[in-house]
Amino acid sequence: MDFNIPKEITDKLAELDDFIEREIKPLEKENIQFFDHRREWKRTDWENDGSPSKEWRAVIEEMERRADKAGHLRLCLPKGCGGQAAGNLMSAVVREHLAGKGLGLHNDLQDESSIVGNFTILPAIDKYGTPEQRQYIEGNITAKNHLSFALTEPNHGSDATWLETRAVRDGDHWIINGMKRWNSQVGRSKANLVFARTSGKDGSAKGITAFIVPTDAPGHNILYNHWTFNMPTDHAEVELKDVRVPDSAILHKEGEGLMIAQMFVHENRIRQAAASVGAARYCIEESVKYAKERIIFGEPLASRQAIQFPLAELHTDCEILRNFIFRTAWMMDHVDPVQISDLVSMCNFKANNLVCKAADMAIQTHGGVGYSRHKPFEHIYRHHRRYRITEGSDEVQKRRVAQYLFGYSGKKAT
Ligand SMILES: Cc1cc2nc3c(=O)[nH]c(=O)nc-3n(C[C@H](O)[C@H](O)[C@H](O)COP(=O)(O)OP(=O)(O)OC[C@H]3O[C@@H](n4cnc5c(N)ncnc54)[C@H](O)[C@@H]3O)c2cc1C
Repeated sequence: MDFNIPKEITDKLAELDDFIEREIKPLEKENIQFFDHRREWKRTDWENDGSPSKEWRAVIEEMERRADKAGHLRLCLPKGCGGQAAGNLMSAVVREHLAGKGLGLHNDLQDESSIVGNFTILPAIDKYGTPEQRQYIEGNITAKNHLSFALTEPNHGSDATWLETRAVRDGDHWIINGMKRWNSQVGRSKANLVFARTSGKDGSAKGITAFIVPTDAPGHNILYNHWTFNMPTDHAEVELKDVRVPDSAILHKEGEGLMIAQMFVHENRIRQAAASVGAARYCIEESVKYAKERIIFGEPLASRQAIQFPLAELHTDCEILRNFIFRTAWMMDHVDPVQISDLVSMCNFKANNLVCKAADMAIQTHGGVGYSRHKPFEHIYRHHRRYRITEGSDEVQKRRVAQYLFGYSGKKAT
């Protein structure tokens, strides 16, 4: 067994570090109001339903443009998207590394934009999209024609197979009616990937169809944003009222839409886990550094076991998880991820819980200053707390582990 990170990956990390210092840090410094204590205030257009401000979006798009020019943005995308088809191990190590550097334009938390892009829907568009639908590949990468993702509804999130949105055939068209919730980034999208039941029973994955619906189609109405723990927000409530789309709006096949969402679920969960464990490592390292510098009752804070022990425990969990996440990502590159879906879920909920604990301990170790917005820990906590709900909540991940453990579903790899 060789547990070393392959050289092509460590070389890539060095290349990314160099790029960040040369091209991203100067841009970040010019726009420091989006990263220092003013970050939440400056990023948010408070009078426009808490949406991201135009200035903030412009900085993100400039970062992405530079990263694309340097050949990093599409690293993890398939070749058909102009990408380099990097595997899950590369993706996980990169995500952990970038998050481990702390807050910054290289890897933003609120927007999930990064010099190595997170473009979850694009592999599905690459695989199943018609020539016309493929416009959303460049559209999403360049932020010019964005495609958002609309699965969750007011009455159904974890139980998406019970969704209530319906599409009914009308000649060679479909009429869609329903509601969508937490429809991220739809406000700046050209089209929305809407999941609706076209046949089959509630609770069945079969019979759900994915439609690419232009956001300016009559009856596609963005009602309001849900204001969130971490602002700005672009997570909208959307109404679909007699929205009429042609047959050609279907992505992949009628009744087979849910497999689009399932196509990237494992990749997204391991990516999220790697980001969380990287951010946890950052919180622990910053706490250790501060505890060594801070003198309290005449001695370094670091000399107190009450500070050492919780950080030692977090560090232990972080080391165990980091290695487990990399191993699971490596396995995903060698077997069908469905076979190890339980392992991916273990990585996900454990890492997302760990970072919340590590950010909390970092606040505690830093005392009053840790609670302030002059330190990044409150921002890290607020962002990563979300990961315990989205992409399958803690409970949904544990449900998956239990399904495999008790043999209700899943094929175990030997
Ligand atoms: C910031 C943000 C951005 C999002 N972006 C998008 C997006 O772009 N597109 C999109 O479609 N969705 C998006 N979502 C929605 C997200 O996927 C859902 O919030 C998530 O699936 C959980 O669904 P829910 O909120 O309806 O909670 P529910 O499903 O109602 O769950 C409520 C609670 O019950 C628990 N629970 C559920 N099932 C079980 C069970 N069997 N046993 C025990 N406990 C259970 C859950 O874990 C949770 O704690 C976003 C959400 C947020 C917060």
